Amino acid sequence: MPTLFEQEQSLFFQTYKRLPLDIVRGQGCYLTDRQGRQYLDFFGGLAVNALGYCHPRVVKAIKDQADQYIHLSNFFVQEPQVKLAERLLALSGFARIFFTNSGTEAIEGAIKLVRKWGTPRGKKNLFGLSNSFHGRTMGALSLTERAKYREGYEPFLPHTGHIRFNDVEDLRAKVNDETLAVFVEPIQGEGGINVLSREFCTELSTLRTKHGFLLVADEIQSGMGRTGKLFGYQHLGLLPEVVVVAKAIGGGLPLGAILGSSAVASVFTYGVHGTTFGGNPVACAAGLAVMEEIIDGGLMTRAGAIGERLLAGFQELRRRYPAIVTEVRGFGCMLGVQLSVEGQSVVDRLMERGILVNCTNTNVLRFLPPYIATDEECKRVVNELGEVLGSL
Ligand SMILES: *Cc1c(COP(=O)(O)O)cnc(C)c1O
Repeated sequence: MPTLFEQEQSLFFQTYKRLPLDIVRGQGCYLTDRQGRQYLDFFGGLAVNALGYCHPRVVKAIKDQADQYIHLSNFFVQEPQVKLAERLLALSGFARIFFTNSGTEAIEGAIKLVRKWGTPRGKKNLFGLSNSFHGRTMGALSLTERAKYREGYEPFLPHTGHIRFNDVEDLRAKVNDETLAVFVEPIQGEGGINVLSREFCTELSTLRTKHGFLLVADEIQSGMGRTGKLFGYQHLGLLPEVVVVAKAIGGGLPLGAILGSSAVASVFTYGVHGTTFGGNPVACAAGLAVMEEIIDGGLMTRAGAIGERLLAGFQELRRRYPAIVTEVRGFGCMLGVQLSVEGQSVVDRLMERGILVNCTNTNVLRFLPPYIATDEECKRVVNELGEVLGSL
């Protein structure tokens, strides 16, 4: 009998380097493998599992909605969509929403939205930032900058370019009256938990007013309360016209959304954009349960507190191992520990100790814990990381 891992290798396009774990169950902050070993999961489904696994409120919402209807088509108005939309718009202050199935689909929709807004105004240039990640489809990839995602996929969308991250001079040199929109991750995720500087944000806002372009915040990873605020840009004083979310919003079901301010509220009209599955009622019902827990259940505040605890611990490790830990970054449940060595061996050793974290950009340990992690669990992660660093 071939193992699951052997089957995977012969069946799939080999796009994923899978972890050597055969998970059979998730509960709260823990995963259990086939041998019955438990793992404390600060990998968090790459920012999807904000409430951990099998959260009773999410499971119940999914079951209840599945019993009512699983799909209707967007020809029908659907209560779970309406309720989730109402909640998200009330909290965020945006005017309109469009639901998608994924992050990249939401970015594509945002590109279409800003183009439809800007083309009649004579604007055409779209910018992303260096080191960015916005998704895998061709529009999102045109704004993504990192070479490892782009190589071999040329040509990209015309009139797309990149501004160097936090480089005010480069920003000034590149935007002008023909600029249509600038897409930013307020806190870069895949790029290694890099936070936009205040100076860059201030200049971006000034130039936007001067040239009249739109600002799109990609909050797919940093949104949904993960940083202790609903959106990452709220830490930075930015005011985007368009926000894109996904990952945590659906409680583990595929869901994303584009939120737009009144400036773009009437750009999309009947038939100009759409999706078959986007806004699936089961996903939206799960999303509503997620929102209720995050907001009413106080988990957004908790996400912020988890961050403070972990940051304090990581800073202590930086003082203890200054040659290995060079910087600690991020907010809430979205933190990065910059190492001077490759992160993979640290990740592997933590896994041997029953702790899951991710490494991105070669030498950044990325922590995306669920917002339900306890102080005890945070302490354990810091302690075990300390022991691993000490053993290097
Ligand atoms: C994950 C991610 C995406 C892509 O989302 P998918 O659902 O995988 O398409 C886009 N932007 C950011 C910042 C992300 O973290």
